[in-house]
Amino acid sequence: MPHVAGEVQAYSMASSKLVKLRMSAGYSCRLCNQQRNLVKAHAIPEAFFRASKSGSEHLLMVGNTRAGAPRRMPIGVYDPGILCGDCETLFGEYDDYGAKVLLSRFDELFSPVYSGAKTIAFESTSVDQDKLLRFIVSVLWRASVSTLPFYSGVDLAGFANQAARVVLNPDQEVPSVFEAVLWRWHAIGGMQTYAGSIANPVRQRIGIANVYRLYLGQTMTIIKVSGSRLPPAMESLRIGAQSSLFAIAGDFASSKDFETMVSIVRNSPRWPSKRKPI
Ligand SMILES: [Zn+2]
Repeated sequence: MPHVAGEVQAYSMASSKLVKLRMSAGYSCRLCNQQRNLVKAHAIPEAFFRASKSGSEHLLMVGNTRAGAPRRMPIGVYDPGILCGDCETLFGEYDDYGAKVLLSRFDELFSPVYSGAKTIAFESTSVDQDKLLRFIVSVLWRASVSTLPFYSGVDLAGFANQAARVVLNPDQEVPSVFEAVLWRWHAIGGMQTYAGSIANPVRQRIGIANVYRLYLGQTMTIIKVSGSRLPPAMESLRIGAQSSLFAIAGDFASSKDFETMVSIVRNSPRWPSKRKPI
């Protein structure tokens, strides 16, 4: 246990030094490019980390080896070196909406779609799909400009400016390089803890398209960042494809993510509650 706690504490100290260095060296906000005081900014909003409360006072976060050692942490991951205060507020509306749709009001907004007795999807006719997609793109952009190890798997490279404009220009259509499909884990009993865990985003390929898997509590989204098309079955269920929004129902217990999360949680010590959150 001391190993993990010490590691994270060292990282916390490194972060505060980093923000001082950046400010003294006149680092710029990554969105407006102005030299301003930078604030603590989340890529995945803090609400999703808070919702992953693991049955005690501790919040749960897991990661894979690309993002450093898997561990539990008491608060969401923030980056003190990417956004000024004014720009940070631009994300607030999307973050609130994302948390409302995917966390606090999902059960109210979505109805199960059955095939026989089996739930195969969840459907909503009342979600603002454009706004939800902008929220997802905004998370991905923040993860891409972040230098935190947790987000090291995300690099939008040549698509970063287009992603920034999705946030800056809400009147312009979201470019078709960004398309997202939702999965909703349905978990029962004790699995709820694991299903709501936050894992670091990872990149993969589907066909010839680059996609990212973003874990947002019980919802996992696959977002394409590519000029290539998604396979037709996914394309028809992407956000904005139909007047209804669908989230594919995933059986969490039989997923690979479940296996990984359970082993990480079992092998990872609890965070001492007195420790200052980073
Ligand atoms: Zn700014």
